[in-house]
Amino acid sequence: MSGSRRSFLITSSVGIGAAVGVAGVGGAAAGLYSNAARPLLEGVSSDAAELPIVDTHQHLWDLSQLTLGWLKGAPEVLTRNYGLAEYAAATEGLNVVQAVYMEVDVIPEHQRKEADALIAVCRSGKSPTVAAVISGRPDSDGFAEYIRSYSSAPEIRGVRQVLHAESAVRGLCLKPQFVASMKLLGELGLSFDLCMRPGELEDGVALAKQCPETRFIVDHCGNAAPAAFLPKSVRKNPPEHDADQWRRDMSAFAACPNVICKISGVIAAAPSGVPFAESLAPIVNHCLDEFGPDRVVFGGDWPVCLLGGTYRDWVFSLRQIVADRPRVEREKLWSGNARRFYRLPA
Ligand SMILES: [Zn+2]
Repeated sequence: MSGSRRSFLITSSVGIGAAVGVAGVGGAAAGLYSNAARPLLEGVSSDAAELPIVDTHQHLWDLSQLTLGWLKGAPEVLTRNYGLAEYAAATEGLNVVQAVYMEVDVIPEHQRKEADALIAVCRSGKSPTVAAVISGRPDSDGFAEYIRSYSSAPEIRGVRQVLHAESAVRGLCLKPQFVASMKLLGELGLSFDLCMRPGELEDGVALAKQCPETRFIVDHCGNAAPAAFLPKSVRKNPPEHDADQWRRDMSAFAACPNVICKISGVIAAAPSGVPFAESLAPIVNHCLDEFGPDRVVFGGDWPVCLLGGTYRDWVFSLRQIVADRPRVEREKLWSGNARRFYRLPA
């Protein structure tokens, strides 16, 4: 993966990879997002016998309704609409039984529109989406009022501000206003997703330590770059971050009882020419070993994952990576921990 590709990944939470055939926009059954039934994908067998999946990182976007500033100049595969119908097609046969929507870094003026649309999706009961993590700007004066206004919406489970966006300078999450907002989230029973540059994870660790009553999720295995873990002989470019530093930072996160790790995202930046399971295993296994079987959750990160591989590629690779772990641990990773952490309806 070239430097420019990787910089897009870091600034936009995405990498680059194979574009796949994703269907166009459906109707508008649930607010902004379509839930129209879609035919089975040809040649895809059912994996219903596999463990059920709770996807803790589902994105949806309708670009006629929401502005995602970070998509400007993004690869074509991302600059189209992704609704519930497309999600159903992408996950067909994978036994995805529930999903938690993850905010998509809309422009601040659209944050409420996004949140309100997702509450409607959750309440419609017509899709696997049962809860949502909404966007917010914890360093702003209006954050307390903003988040309190959603306290009567039980579908809202947490907040995220993408901290690797260009607008998020290093150290933002340690500013006093930001820290105070994190403490407020804890009081409200809401979590915060830490989606950070891999070289800045220690800021997140410091934040988690300052807010022991707030629950944090480290997104995308700390945004580790798979290429950084390849042997020198295979690597095409210099590593984009130090793999050992990442290992130490993730271990430091794991030492915080109020932090869990989302196993997600890494396929978007998977290097070409290496099987997914092979390039992603060092990252996934370190996270699983350090956080232990009870503090790891699965996330699809669709459609951003399409930059590296399909949803199916990600699920199949992860199944391969964890195949030798006890079934009880795999069940926790794929669904059990997410149900407990997000208090999902049975
Ligand atoms: Zn994502």
